[in-house]
Amino acid sequence: MIKVKQYIITPVFKLWYEATLPGKRVVCHQCNGEGTMVNPNIGVLTAHDMEDEDFRESYMSGVYDVACGCCDGKRVIDVLDYDALSPKMQLAVDKAEKEIAADEAEAYYEQKWGA
Ligand SMILES: [Zn+2]
Repeated sequence: MIKVKQYIITPVFKLWYEATLPGKRVVCHQCNGEGTMVNPNIGVLTAHDMEDEDFRESYMSGVYDVACGCCDGKRVIDVLDYDALSPKMQLAVDKAEKEIAADEAEAYYEQKWGA
């Protein structure tokens, strides 16, 4: 049984709580199950880079690939199994996610406008 940690807000006391909830294993969305990604240090390639035959060949053969940063090369990640939760727990998760999103939006605007 896969378990994941997830922040929830309890409906009654409105407390933040890190709950251990049922999870499920899904294919990593970042590498699409490849387990590798091109080294981010390479940066953005231009058409000019690809004119270099040696570079292009090694690039295509995966020389510059590193373990995927999201799944750590495991090709799969554990995510919350939302459907397995009770409606009450789903609500608690939704509440927490909404709060987190609001916090992030606030931080973003503060940074942008210096408020
Ligand atoms: Zn991955």
